[in-house]
Amino acid sequence: MADAITEITTLKCGTCLFDGVTVEPKHFCVNCQEYICPACAREHRRHKSLREHTILEGNEFPQDVTLFEEMEKLSYCPKHPNVEVDQHCPSHDVLFCSQCLQKDHGLCERVTNVACSLEEISATKKQRELINDLLTKSKAKQTELFKHLEEARINMNAVEIEINSFIQTLKDAVQNIEKTLNEKFTNLTQPFKHSDETLSNIVKKASFYEHMQAIRSRYGTAKQNVALNFTLSVLLKELESNDDSIDSVFSKQIQFLKSNNFEDLISELNQYDVVLRSKDERASDICSDEEDTYEDALDLLQTNKRDEATQVEQLMIANELGPKRPLRVWL
Ligand SMILES: [Zn+2]
Ligand SMILES: [Zn+2]
Ligand SMILES: [Zn+2]
Ligand SMILES: [Zn+2]
Repeated sequence: MADAITEITTLKCGTCLFDGVTVEPKHFCVNCQEYICPACAREHRRHKSLREHTILEGNEFPQDVTLFEEMEKLSYCPKHPNVEVDQHCPSHDVLFCSQCLQKDHGLCERVTNVACSLEEISATKKQRELINDLLTKSKAKQTELFKHLEEARINMNAVEIEINSFIQTLKDAVQNIEKTLNEKFTNLTQPFKHSDETLSNIVKKASFYEHMQAIRSRYGTAKQNVALNFTLSVLLKELESNDDSIDSVFSKQIQFLKSNNFEDLISELNQYDVVLRSKDERASDICSDEEDTYEDALDLLQTNKRDEATQVEQLMIANELGPKRPLRVWL
């Protein structure tokens, strides 16, 4: 309600406003593009030069004059907003003013006075028909566009799902590789850990008997001396019996073997793509194209040197992870 009041009171009589007085208008002069109050409307009609002006009131009184303003602009030159159009150029298909005539259309053929060409246009089709035509055609195009947009949206969702499932497959494969490598690492390092435990245990015992020897030399019996010697010689034998397995650990080194074609694998992954293709292409070459890409990928993998280090590729094949096909958006 408050808004409606504000809106009404924002309209002011243009003529009275010129004298600094705010008066609510009840009329609108189409020719002057101005709101006027009843007193000014009466005055407007009294002037001979303004007598022909169209003054709107009552039901015809417009709250918004945008359409009138735009209608007024229609008859003015797009390049010279203060000059009315009076020429039509069929080559450029524009209406323009006499100032534009020399400058822009000096060499154009069949430039005619706007009055004549307008008669021509209205003779071919009625304005109402032109508007109907325009509305029907643009709405039909819009409907078609909506259909295509909807198709594209479904298409995009499908491609997004495909991308996500591809990424998931990749992640799963990488996780498998990680698991296998870690398991192998644990197995291979087992002897190192075992030797370390054995040696630590012997060192611990040796250090314990070192302390005991100090006590025994001062307070122990001859029998205890013999027994300690025996225990120490057993411990020494234990150490010597482990020599072979400890030596074999010393002679080895753990190493992580990477694929020789690791860089190729990365660049192969970079060949995945999302592309726009015409619908005709989809029907004709989708199958053969996909097979080619897959075969190329297999070729690449099969030419890799088969040694322990190729387990990355083998796992990729096991997980059907080869670059099977590019991801596509159909539009
Ligand atoms: Zn007034
Ligand atoms: Zn007027
Ligand atoms: Zn102009
Ligand atoms: Zn022209």
